[in-house]
Amino acid sequence: MTYSGLFRAWATVLAAILAAILLSTVAFTTGAGAQEQPPCSGKVVLDPGHGGDDSGAVNKTYDLQEKDQTLNVANKLRDLLVADGCTVYMTRITDEPLTNTQRANIANSFQANDPGDYVLVSIHMNGSTSPSADYTTTLFGKWRKDKELAYAVFGDNVNPPKINPPTYGLRTLSAVDGTGTISTRTPYSFASGVLLKSNMPAIIAETVFITNVEEGRRLSEVTEARQQEIAEALRSGIERHFATH
Ligand SMILES: [Zn+2]
Repeated sequence: MTYSGLFRAWATVLAAILAAILLSTVAFTTGAGAQEQPPCSGKVVLDPGHGGDDSGAVNKTYDLQEKDQTLNVANKLRDLLVADGCTVYMTRITDEPLTNTQRANIANSFQANDPGDYVLVSIHMNGSTSPSADYTTTLFGKWRKDKELAYAVFGDNVNPPKINPPTYGLRTLSAVDGTGTISTRTPYSFASGVLLKSNMPAIIAETVFITNVEEGRRLSEVTEARQQEIAEALRSGIERHFATH
């Protein structure tokens, strides 16, 4: 092999090494890019609605009580949020009655003991005497404190542009009658002690109607797929809030 031949051989090897380094750098960057979505750094207080003597709304056909369903969804949501890096507290983890003031006080004490960027999400299911009624909505207490969170969890911007089709939040829930996404009611203000007495952005999520015939059927499935879907919709709305604040 001549000197120039040797050089060419080494040049080829060097080029291959360089290419390998470059490729691994690109791959590494791409990998890092895929993980660039910041892990959830916020703190979330989940408040499963009702409990104890207070069953909340019921679906007699499927023997469902709102207090159990809200705790079920809250447990699933807690796992999802923790996996994403959020710190999660819960106002109740058992079937116990709490007043609205107690719920707000518990949330405030979490924040006092472990300061940070908090939200409070009170999880509910709606009820109606009409078995066909079904829509999703969120309720806020104080406009300045709560309204943006209410819209984030609902799945829309407070101001235009409005988001269509929905990409996050409760609006992404499938309609149980198979017609796209669930019906909606625009977030509205509601003077609940949970919302008014808490020091952090706080909302009530009226996720679905437990009294709806088809919701009842799906909520009673052993797979708990509907509860999981509700938890995932809430997660995307909560994380949207943290990502934009
Ligand atoms: Zn309720």
